[in-house]
Formats: sequence, structure tokens, C-alpha cells
Amino acid sequence: MELHFTGRGAMLNPSEGNTAAYFEDDQNFFLIDCGEDVASKLIEMGKLNQDKNYYLFITHTHGDHIGSIGTLIQYLYYVKGHRLNIVFGPNMTYAENILGILELMGVTSETYNIVNTRMLENRSPLFNKISYTESNHGMTPLKSCGLTIDTPEGNILYTGDIADPRIITNFFSANFPDTIDKIYVDTSLNESPVHMSLETLKRIIPIGLRHKVYCMHINHPDLITEIPKWGFNLVDSSTLNLLSRDINTLNEDELRTLENELKNRLSEVEKLQENNNQKKLTKQINHEIQKRAYDQQS
Ligand SMILES: [Zn+2]
Repeated sequence: MELHFTGRGAMLNPSEGNTAAYFEDDQNFFLIDCGEDVASKLIEMGKLNQDKNYYLFITHTHGDHIGSIGTLIQYLYYVKGHRLNIVFGPNMTYAENILGILELMGVTSETYNIVNTRMLENRSPLFNKISYTESNHGMTPLKSCGLTIDTPEGNILYTGDIADPRIITNFFSANFPDTIDKIYVDTSLNESPVHMSLETLKRIIPIGLRHKVYCMHINHPDLITEIPKWGFNLVDSSTLNLLSRDINTLNEDELRTLENELKNRLSEVEKLQENNNQKKLTKQINHEIQKRAYDQQS
């Protein structure tokens, strides 16, 4: 199973957007984290206008992972009539903090549901079960979790933000290489007290497994060229982020996507302008006809 990203940036690399991932089937939409820009992007992409069950997982309560939860809940409830299902798990020692944040935001409890990871078992053809695994975000005072997703193609690890690689090494111990589907991991260019560095990834991930590793939450544009050099993948940037990125950091594929996006938008603008001009012209003609009819009468 592949995760899709609304953004792949770290908090201090905002041109790449907040890192948040989603996956969906015909009936359900699952979202991992909802930083400050995530709800508005999902609305712009039309993802919140579907008649589906919406589920949200939160890896920890930094603003770039939970900042738009209020907008997400209230848009779904007041505009679409859906209650967001916030998924809690037994290892989530920060669940109370999420409820506290919602209370401070003035989000009332009838606008969302709290569901348990166990209630999601066999809910979707995409996965058998999803669990939270406690992780370590280093020098921050926050508790954090990663997610493991048991899918028909193998197990997926989504680290969230980590400073300690144990969640990855434990995942390796619990799985044979062929039972691993993908590993999504936050990646910093240099050593960091709160994030996983590219150096550490090179040290702990065997070369034969690197094609299953997808770097996300990147903190520096140099990672765009550095990550593939060492055999790792970089998650795709959403088209919405390409519009705000420094054009010099875009690779050939991204430049082509941006060019197509801009051409599409330009043709939409031209169509709108043409419609507006047509309407103006019709209005002028009608006005002129009425004026002449009036002149003839008088
Ligand atoms: Zn964080």
C-alpha cells in the first residue's frame, strides 16, 4: 500500500508543507497527522467533500502534526455533516493532551468521535490492522508514537518524528525482510536532537532494504538530491507544494508537473475571463436594445 502526502516538510521547512499522509478506499479516508496547512489543502484538493468515513491518527502534538485539527473537525461536521473519527490506541500516552487541545480550541465533543484502533480491524480492504507504537522524539517534552500498518502487501512502519532509531530496529527484529512493505521515516540532513538523520539511516538500514525506505519530514532542500544517492526513496511532493517551492530545487519530473499544473490553471483563468467578457458583452447589448426601444417610443 502506498501513502499519499499533502506535504513532506519539517516544521522549519514550510515550503514543502507539513508532513501528513493519507490513504483511502471506496468508503473510508484515513489521515495521519494534520499540521497547520493540512485541512486547507485537503479542502482545496476536494478530499473532504467525499461521502466517506473519516479517520485521523495523531503521532504527537507538535503544531506541524496537529495544528489544523480544529478546522478539520469543524469543516467535516458543519459543512459536510460528518463526524471525524479520531483514532486512539493503548500506547498513546498523549491522548488526554489531544482532548485538552480540542477543548481549548472550542471544538465540542458532539462534533467528533473517539475510536479505538481495534475497531478498525478488517474495516478496509487496504489493511488488516493498525497500531500505535511508542517512539522517542528526543529532546522535546512531548510523548510520541509511530504507526504500524499490517497490509496484504506486508507491514508498513510510519515513524512520525523520532530521534531514537529503536522503533526502526525493533520493526526489523519483528519482521522478515520479505514481510516489510515500506518504512516511512522523518529525515534530517544533519544530526539532530529531535529527528532522524540521514547519517543514522545509512548506519542502521542495510543496503538491500533501502528501496523499501521512504524519507519524509525533510528539513533541507539538499535532501532532495542526497536521499536517492544513498538508495533511499523520497516521498512525492504534492502539486500544491510545488507552487511554493524554490524553482531551483525542482527536479525534471517536478518541473514538468509544475508546468502542466500552471498550464491547466492558466486555461481555467482564460475560460473564466472569456465567460466574464461574454456576460459583460451580453449585458451591454441588452442595455443598448432597451435604450433604443425606449428612444423609439419617446
Ligand atoms: Zn515533532
